[in-house]
Amino acid sequence: MSFELPTLPYDFAALEPHIDTQTMEIHHDKHHAGYVANLNKALEGHDDLLSLSVDVLLSSLDKVPTESRQTVINNAGGHANHTLFWQIMTPGGSALPEGKLSEALTSTFGSLESFKEQFTAKSVSLFGSGWVFLCISNGSLELKRHSFQNSPYMDGKTPILGLDVWEHAYYLKYQNRRAEYINAWWNIVNWTKVDELFASTQS
Ligand code: MN
Repeated sequence: MSFELPTLPYDFAALEPHIDTQTMEIHHDKHHAGYVANLNKALEGHDDLLSLSVDVLLSSLDKVPTESRQTVINNAGGHANHTLFWQIMTPGGSALPEGKLSEALTSTFGSLESFKEQFTAKSVSLFGSGWVFLCISNGSLELKRHSFQNSPYMDGKTPILGLDVWEHAYYLKYQNRRAEYINAWWNIVNWTKVDELFASTQS
């Protein structure tokens, strides 16, 4: 019983030119694989915890022994965050959000454009390594910035869109130009998947 690295839903080269092939290979096969391996190692002998889904594990950290809790936060968070990240991107991007998600984005942030501006501003200005998420919190949309691999599930929130702003996510192609990476990333967001994740929180 153990956590497993999910297969990418597209080829390493599929997100070019916005995210380069080599970054995708290293990011998925080394970084994400590393989080999964370290999580399994940290929970060795704890079959009850290894049998949980990663979101449930992250929302029940009190069950994790104190001495391994921070390792589990880092690596279960890394596993959950990257699993979401691969899913909410798609080659060439998708149609824009529609229906209930579109309405919720407009009522919460003013418009889709304004949401993207606020999300981008939070991403550009994040100090050091971390993520920016669109979450569902008590039924409402919320923009959240997290350091390191801290996951919204730890706070009882469900992420439906997330952007990795660790340097390993963009440095090979963009070096210090984080804003350029973020602007390129909007071209490959899979709104269809975000819509689906949003719908699954609304029942
Ligand atoms: Mn990453």
